[in-house]
Amino acid sequence: MIASSQDPIAAIATAPGKGGIGVVRISGPNLDGIATKLFQQPLKPRHAHYLSFNDAEGRAIDAGIVLYFKAPHSYTGEDVLELQGHGGPAVLKRILARCMEAGKDWGIRHAEPGEFTQRAFLNDRLDLAQAEAVADLIDASSEAAARSAMASLSGAFSREVTALNDRIIHLRMLVEATLDFPEEEIDFLEKYQARPTLEAIITDLQAIRKRAGQGMILREGLHVVLAGRPNVGKSSLLNALAGDDVAIVTPIAGTTRDRVIQQIHLDGVPIHIVDTAGLRETTDEVESIGISRTWAEIERADAVIHLQDAREPNDELEEEIARRIPTRTPVLKVYNKMDLIADANTDGLSSNTQSQPESIAGHAVEKLFISARTGQNLDALRQRLLDIAGWSPGAESPWLARERHIRALEAAEEHLAAARAHAELDDQVLDLFAEELRLAHEELGAITGQFTSDDLLGEIFSSFCIGK
Ligand code: GDP
Repeated sequence: MIASSQDPIAAIATAPGKGGIGVVRISGPNLDGIATKLFQQPLKPRHAHYLSFNDAEGRAIDAGIVLYFKAPHSYTGEDVLELQGHGGPAVLKRILARCMEAGKDWGIRHAEPGEFTQRAFLNDRLDLAQAEAVADLIDASSEAAARSAMASLSGAFSREVTALNDRIIHLRMLVEATLDFPEEEIDFLEKYQARPTLEAIITDLQAIRKRAGQGMILREGLHVVLAGRPNVGKSSLLNALAGDDVAIVTPIAGTTRDRVIQQIHLDGVPIHIVDTAGLRETTDEVESIGISRTWAEIERADAVIHLQDAREPNDELEEEIARRIPTRTPVLKVYNKMDLIADANTDGLSSNTQSQPESIAGHAVEKLFISARTGQNLDALRQRLLDIAGWSPGAESPWLARERHIRALEAAEEHLAAARAHAELDDQVLDLFAEELRLAHEELGAITGQFTSDDLLGEIFSSFCIGK
C-alpha cells in the first residue's frame, strides 16, 4: 500500500445500504486527541459510552455507542475508535465526515481497501492466512464455507502449517550444522534418522493439503455450464438441485438482464451455473455483449451439462461448446423428463453408453437420464458434480484455503520429495538435501506471511472491501 502506515485512517465499516446499526471505524497509533476532540471527554478503553455525535458546531448528527480500544488490544493492534450510529448511508457519511474533520490535525485519511486488516497483519495480530480468512469469512456463500473460514481465522490452519515448518527447520538446523563438519556428513542421515523424519513430515503435509484442498473447493466451488434449448427443463433442474436451498438461486448482481450466472449449493459447495439461454438468438449489440460474456464463462467451466428433453434429443450447441472448452472438461449429457418416456433405462446411465462411450471434440461424454419433476436420478447427478469438484469431505472439517495456499503446499511437497530423492540415493550430497528443505520452508512460510513480497501483500489486501 502506498500511503503511510502511520496515519490515522477512517472508514465506514458496515456494508453500504440501510441497517439498524452502522459503524465508523478509526485506527491510528494514538487516537486520544481525536477522541477528545470528537466527544469533549476522555474515553475509557473497552467501555461502552452512549454519546451524542456532534458536528463541529455542536449540533447532533446522531447518538450511539462509542468504543475505544487502546493499542495493542485492538483489531489492528493500534488505537481503534468505533462509532456505532444508525445504519443509514447519509448519517454514516456525515459521521465519517465529522471524524475526518476532527482528525485533520493528526493527518487522518480515508482507509484503503483492507487497510485495517493489513495493519492487524503488520502488527502481528493476525498472520497472512488468518487475514485472508477474514475476507473469506465475510464472503462465505454457504454455512460450510463460513465454518471453515472461521477455522482458518482462528488460526487452526496456520498453526498446523507453522508446526510442520518448525519440524522442517529443526531438520535443516541439523543438516546445516553437519555441513560445517564434512567428516560427519557420512553418517548424518543415519545418525539423525533423517529419512523417517522427512517421511513423517511429508505424510503430515499431505494431510494438511487435503484438508485445505477441501476448503478451497468450498471457497471456489464448481463452474458448470448448463446448455439446452428452451423448455427442456433448465430452471426446473436448478430448482430441484438446489432443494431447500432454493432461496439462494439468485442472479448475481449486475447480470439481471442476461442472467449469466446463478449459484446453488450442494453439500455447501457453491455451484456456479452459467446459463446459456439466448446464446444463439441475436445480432443486437447489447445482447451480443452478454453473449460474449457467456462464452467467456463457458471457457472457464469445470463441467458442461447439456440438458435435453429425453423425448426429442438434440445436439445443437454441444459441439460448439465442446470445442471451446479444454478437452479435460467433462461433458454430461443429461436427458430430462424421463418420467415421460415409457422405456427409459431407469437406473440412470443408459446401457448403450456403456457399450459405446461417446466423445465430442475430444471430450469424454457421460450420459444420464433424470427427471427434474420427480427427482429421479438427481442424486446421481449431484454426486457426479461433487466428484468433478473433487469434494470428498473426510471426518475432519476443512480449512478454508485459497489457491495460493494450495500452490505453496504443493510446491513444498515437491521440494520435500526432491530432498527424499537425494536421501535415497545416499549420495551424501547433503548440500542439495539442505537446499530442498530450505525451499520447502520458504514455501510454507509464504502461507502465513513469513516470507511474502510487498506486491503479493498489496494484491491480497487490495481485494478486500474498504472498512475491513
Ligand atoms: P427451461 O426453459 O429449460 O428453463 O425449462 P423449464 O424448467 O421452464 O421447464 C419447461 C417445462 O417442462 C415446464 O412446464 C416444466 O414443468 C416441464 N418439466 C421440466 N422438467 C420436467 C420433468 O422432468 N418431467 C416433466 N414431465 N416435465 C418437466
